[in-house]
Formats: sequence, C-alpha cells, structure tokens
Amino acid sequence: MLRPFRAVPARYRFPATSGSHTFRQRVLWSSPIGRSQFSTVKDTKRGPRFSGDKSWTRSMLAAAGGSLITGLLIFNLRGQVPIVDAEHEQHRKNEQKKPRYVYASKEDLGKAILEIRKELGEEGISTDDDDLRQHGFSEWSSINIDQLPTAVAFPNSTEQVAKIARICSKYKVPMIPYSGGSSVEGHFSAAFGGISVDFMNMCDIVEFHPEDMDIVVQPSVSWMDMNEKIKESGLFFPIDPGPPVRSSGFLYSCFWSVFSANIHASGTNAVRYGTMKDWVINMTIVLPDGRILKTRQRPRKSSAGYNLNGLFTGAEGTLGFVTEATLKLARIPEETGVAVTSFPTMRDAANAAIQVVREGIPVGAVELLDDVQMDVINRMGDTGREWKAKPTLFFKFSGTKVGVQDNIDGVSHIVHANHGSDLEVEKDTSKQEALWFARKQALWSMLCLRKSGHEVWSTDVAVPLSKVSDLVEVSKKDLDKLGLFGSMLGHIGDGNFHETILYDGKKEYKSVAKCVHDMVHRAIEMEGTCTGEHGIGLGKKEFMAQEVGEESLSVMRAIKQSLDPYWLMNPGKVFDP
Ligand SMILES: Cc1cc2nc3c(=O)[nH]c(=O)nc-3n(C[C@H](O)[C@H](O)[C@H](O)COP(=O)(O)OP(=O)(O)OC[C@H]3O[C@@H](n4cnc5c(N)ncnc54)[C@H](O)[C@@H]3O)c2cc1C
Repeated sequence: MLRPFRAVPARYRFPATSGSHTFRQRVLWSSPIGRSQFSTVKDTKRGPRFSGDKSWTRSMLAAAGGSLITGLLIFNLRGQVPIVDAEHEQHRKNEQKKPRYVYASKEDLGKAILEIRKELGEEGISTDDDDLRQHGFSEWSSINIDQLPTAVAFPNSTEQVAKIARICSKYKVPMIPYSGGSSVEGHFSAAFGGISVDFMNMCDIVEFHPEDMDIVVQPSVSWMDMNEKIKESGLFFPIDPGPPVRSSGFLYSCFWSVFSANIHASGTNAVRYGTMKDWVINMTIVLPDGRILKTRQRPRKSSAGYNLNGLFTGAEGTLGFVTEATLKLARIPEETGVAVTSFPTMRDAANAAIQVVREGIPVGAVELLDDVQMDVINRMGDTGREWKAKPTLFFKFSGTKVGVQDNIDGVSHIVHANHGSDLEVEKDTSKQEALWFARKQALWSMLCLRKSGHEVWSTDVAVPLSKVSDLVEVSKKDLDKLGLFGSMLGHIGDGNFHETILYDGKKEYKSVAKCVHDMVHRAIEMEGTCTGEHGIGLGKKEFMAQEVGEESLSVMRAIKQSLDPYWLMNPGKVFDP
C-alpha cells in the first residue's frame, strides 16, 4: 500500500542506491549496542529494564561487545565503512554503558499487530515490504540504518491512534510517528523495529475560523494545499518549510506536512514570520499509554501553565503523537516583490544579508546560494535562464506598496555597499514565482545530480548573526577543500545555513563526516546550534551534550521518562536513556 501522492515525478526519481544492499551500510555508531542490535524483535523477556537491574545490564554489555565485533567483521567483509574516528568510538563506548530497554518479543509483536488489525480493520495495518521500506528508509536522508519497522499502521482518527498506543504500550512495542516522511536525520527510521504510525489518512482541515485567524488541521494536511484552499479568505499559513517540485505541471506539494511542527522546522519565511512553533495555538496529543490531552484552548496567546506546545513541537515524536493542531494564520500581504543579486564572495553576500536584518528592513525572506548551487540550477535548466555561478542572494518583500518600495531601496543600498551587483527586482506577481523558483529548486536540483549508488549528506547549523559571515566563509573553504560535489545554501537572515554533499559512501564517508562535524562543532563553539531547523533524529544525537550541556539533557530525560517510562515513542532519537 504505497501513497500515490508520494510518487516522485520521473524527472526527480533518484538512482538506486547500492545494488543488493539497498541501505546505506554506515555503522550507526550512535546505536546503543552496535548495528546488529537493531533487530526488529528479540526473543527476550518483555518489559523495561532499568539501570538498577545489574544482570540485565551485564548481559546487554556482553551482547554489545559481541555484536560490535560481529558488526565490524560483517562490515569489513562486505567492504563497508567502519567506525570513522576516535570521537565516535568514544561516544559509542559511552553509549554502551547506559541502561537500555527491551521491547516486545516476536510473539508479543505478532499479538499487537493482530489486535491493531482487529481495531483498525484489514486496511489499518500493513506488513507489506514496500510499506516497510518506505517507512524505514529515505533517499534524501543523511543517515539510514539496516532496520525497518515490522508493520505500518494507518489510523483515521485520534481515537484510533489512542487504541494503537494502548496496544503497543501493553506489549512494549516501539511506535514511530510518520507524517510527510521528508526529514533528513533518520528521524522516522525504526531504530528498534516496532510499528510506524502513518498519518496519511488524517489529512483534513477540521475547522477554519477566518474571524479568529486560525485553522484546525490533522497531521497530514499539506501546507501548500491548505493555503490554496483558504486563499479566498485573504489568510495564509506563512511557514514555508521547503520547496515544491514542479514537473510538467505536477505540483509535488503534499510532501511537507503542516506537522513539520514535530521538529522545529521553518524555512525561507522564518526571518519574517518565525518558525513553526510560533504558529501553534494548541495541539491534541496521544500519549504513549493512550491518554489523550489538549495542550490549550484556542486564544492566540495564553500564559496558563507550562508551554506544552513548545514541549511537543520540538519532541520529534519521542513524547507522543500529535493528532490535531490549531494554527495561527496571517494576512496575505497587499504587495510582494522578489529580488536577486550576486556577489564576488560568500562573505560579501553574508555580510549584506546580515546588515539588512540588523538595519531592521522587514524582508519576507533572504536566502543565500553559493556558486556551486547556482551552477547546479543552470545545469538542471528548469528555470529558463542562465544564472551567474556566483554567491547569490534571493530576497522576498511583502507589505504595502509604499513599504515594499522603501524596503527594496534600502536593500539595494546595502547590496551595493557590500560589492553586490544591481538588484534584479520583480514586482509582477505572475513573474515573481518564476524568479523564486530557482531558489525553490535548489535542493532537489542538487539531489537529481547524485550518481547512481552515491549518498547525499544534507545538514544545517545556525549561529548568532555576528558569527554568520565567519562560519559561512570557513565552511565554504572546507567544502571546497573536500573536493567533492557539495553546495551551500542558507536561510541566512536567521543565521541558518545548509550544506549538501554528494559522495561515494564506500570511499568518502570519513572525509565527508569530518567536514560536516567540523562545521557543527565550530557552530556550537560560536554559541550556535547543531541544527537550526532539521532537528536531531539519529544523525545529530552526538552533539546534544556539547550544545545543551549534561544538566539540560538530564531534564529532557526526566521529562521523557515521566511521559514515556518504557521509551516506546520513537526510541533511539534525540538522546538515549
Ligand atoms: C528537499 C528538502 C528540503 C527541505 N527544506 C527544509 C526547509 O527549508 N526547512 C526545514 O525546516 N526543513 C526542511 N527539510 C526537512 C524536512 O522536510 C522538514 O523538516 C519537515 O518539516 C519534516 O516534516 P514531515 O512531515 O515530512 O515529517 P516526518 O519526516 O514524517 O517526521 C519528522 C519527525 O516528526 C515525527 N512526527 C511525524 N509526524 C508526527 C506526529 N503526527 N506526531 C508526532 N510526531 C510526528 C517523526 O516521528 C519524526 O521524528 C527539507 C527536506 C528536504 C528533503
């Protein structure tokens, strides 16, 4: 049972990854006990074990050692890439010392699937190979593991989600929420097997309150479809978490579900409108044991109690299922404009962008694309024109007619002062989309150039504004030194930028990992973050302690422990027990 709307247009279909080994065979150093422990089910006694249970800890450590050696041997025999450096090695050793949880036996997992089928019907749960693969592997993720979920459930309502949670809780089956499936750090991979819970059937606008400027939606509502449906009201949802792909008139828009809320997603408009979490009024949550709660009523602001919206928004599915949300809407601006300009260096471009923000010019978006990225757009030839292969800034303007012109004049002045070319401005709305399309095409275009069998590493960091130009410059130099096909692109007005590197996983993993990790460490040292919007997932767990500190991590663990004492919700993500 594959979702028809997820079918990638032929133009953008990726080459097969790696022959018979379809998954990247990277050693998941962040796994608790080596890759081979990521088996779907274990014939062990079910139930959680805590650090106090020494015999369990001993047996797990013994298993860890054995699995690790076996895992490495298997990898070496297959000619795959082993653990890459001392830092990772140390991290993995530390991980092995921590307590772990044991999940459902094979038999109990079977019982859970049967019970869910009884509750949801035949179509409500699938063990079809295609479904398992689609929910455990991603072509555009920076990290994949050799483990799929055992089943995929397709609930239709909050009540059905609660039933799934109660059954999984009874049998200690891991549950992994899944909405658009577009996250890139292994967020929805089934690190411990279990049941992926796909919200594809929950894609309705539940209520629309134009007079209150809000909307109540289910998890799989596409933000673009939603905006299309409500545009007559003069309102829109301004968070723009990613590019649509247009191919032969086909709008590939279902991809970024509105519930990008599950990670602190944002996008090009964040410099003006903030990030996803700023637009959530309330959420309906199903906890791992099946309890249902609503975080708040429906006022645009509330100071009643803890900010549960913030808690669940950034949890990446590790605390509960979000089954409904009320989102704020904004007024569609009277006038808009799009402008483009290029610069001799990345530093010049970054300096100009930051100066625009510092001077308080309310741009709708300011996006930086490097020379490689502009060249890629030319090579794809989708935009109907030839761009200068130079660091380039794309701006969006919005507001009143007079305000937009004022802002364009202000930006133009700053661009010239930072050695930029004349601003190419488009105020005709029908032509703006064509100009902005180049920006929206960026990452897809890059992915389309991936050679058969090669990998993509897509990552993001963010730093305070005063550090952006330095970090962009040094990261660009590192990327050039790496000598691989890699580009930089940034929501630079927020101090947030991305690197995308295409590489041969068998030969080049180590050098790419070093390049990416150096950038991440540098960003954190500059008081920044290892991820401005993509989130932690599996791929960035190792940076959590460096960034937030052990005390903050211990508070996060305590919250997790109290809501999900058996670590059933999306285990293996964000941090470990
Ligand atoms: C080409 C491309 C461009 C991108 N550009 C951007 C960008 O500009 N900005 C940006 O922020 N990101 C970007 N991303 C990353 C990604 O698309 C976004 O982060 C997006 O918000 C993920 O949403 P999703 O619905 O696909 O989540 P999924 O991938 O389905 O899930 C993400 C996480 O949320 C959890 N989750 C999913 N649904 C629920 C639920 N109902 N309840 C609880 N937890 C849930 C999952 O378990 C997982 O941990 C890009 C990705 C690609 C491939």
